[in-house]
Amino acid sequence: MSDVPLLGELTTLRLGGPAQRLVETRDEDDIAATVRAADAANEPLLVLAGGSNVVVADAGFPGTVARVATRGIARRTLPGERLRLDVQAGEDWEALVAACVGDGLAGVEALSGIPGSVGATPIQNVGAYGQEVASVIAAVRALDRVSGEICVLAPEDCRFAYRSSTFKRHPQRWVVLEVSYVLARRELSEPVRYAELAGRLDVELGARAPLADVRAAVLDLRRGKGMVLDPDDPDSVSAGSFFTNPILDARAFAELRRRIEARFGPDVAPPAWRQPDGTVKTSAAWLIGRAGFARGHGDPGGIAISSKHTLALTNRGAGTTRELVDLAREIAAGVHDTFGVELVPEPVFVGHVWETPPGTVAQ
Ligand SMILES: Cc1cc2nc3c(=O)[nH]c(=O)nc-3n(C[C@H](O)[C@H](O)[C@H](O)COP(=O)(O)OP(=O)(O)OC[C@H]3O[C@@H](n4cnc5c(N)ncnc54)[C@H](O)[C@@H]3O)c2cc1C
Repeated sequence: MSDVPLLGELTTLRLGGPAQRLVETRDEDDIAATVRAADAANEPLLVLAGGSNVVVADAGFPGTVARVATRGIARRTLPGERLRLDVQAGEDWEALVAACVGDGLAGVEALSGIPGSVGATPIQNVGAYGQEVASVIAAVRALDRVSGEICVLAPEDCRFAYRSSTFKRHPQRWVVLEVSYVLARRELSEPVRYAELAGRLDVELGARAPLADVRAAVLDLRRGKGMVLDPDDPDSVSAGSFFTNPILDARAFAELRRRIEARFGPDVAPPAWRQPDGTVKTSAAWLIGRAGFARGHGDPGGIAISSKHTLALTNRGAGTTRELVDLAREIAAGVHDTFGVELVPEPVFVGHVWETPPGTVAQ
């Protein structure tokens, strides 16, 4: 057990009070023993890895924090020019992506630059620039805190969805120990499915490009939005996108279009990505900007919207979690007043809960 730190030292937002106890877990047995001991004592437990998707309360966390620091990668060649990687949860995701691109393995190149651990990738089914990690996950080994057993979940058991999975929906149940990915041995990327990325690469939407080019273009686009962790970029002191992109049914999307037309005229239309089930995903960043929240809005020395991207809330140094949540609620209320759309936070709240501003729950 190490000295009890402020959790702010372990999060990319640099926010959060003390943990009661911190245990660094370096192998699977360590993780299992720590989790089982906390559960047997009926003690609150937080599994923490890179700290890049959590909003920890100023009061901290009244229980045990199990920090996942396991390492190890096993490789197995599969028929059909594919490779299976069994990767321990504590491995760094971005280092794994860099190695895959360097080794000519396709399937994760558009997920370059996402901070955090391998074990967290299935939790919210990390995604960016038209790719989601669910498309390459073959299995997840996890400790089931209900049965106390270690099991292997097949992709269909993980119930992956946009920024969600069974792990995110049942946060107290699973501790991810190892994730298995199957990647294609190929120098060309998966088809590029994101218009901004295709434009940067100068290829048609749906075309492939060299893996290294895709990775370089993604990193470049991300840096321009403060979405790559960088000690020299104050805009990267964030939890990434603070809100998920709203997914609206046909009626709600028509209502959104009506409100936009009434306010901005017939030539202004919201970004819209039609989903296979008939719903429409729109852009939270677009809605926030159009609701009147400019980049940089907030306290220039404390909590403010990123100066590069309206979707990221940043801590410029002197902020508190309370102030961050207040700004998030101000934004969610403003978007709802303007467009009738409810914004839902993407990061996980620790030691406190997100309270939807009054009157802003979608009808
Ligand atoms: C600058 C920046 C850019 C980002 N860009 C993106 C992006 O493009 N796309 C995207 O999807 N996300 C993005 N994120 C969010 C974040 O990087 C990912 O969600 C990442 O997977 C979190 O990993 P982590 O190890 O830091 O998780 P943590 O923050 O440590 O934990 C996040 C949640 O997962 C749980 N968890 C972590 N490890 C385990 C485990 N082994 N078993 C069970 N539960 C676990 C924690 O309990 C917590 O609930 C970004 C964040 C930042 C700061």
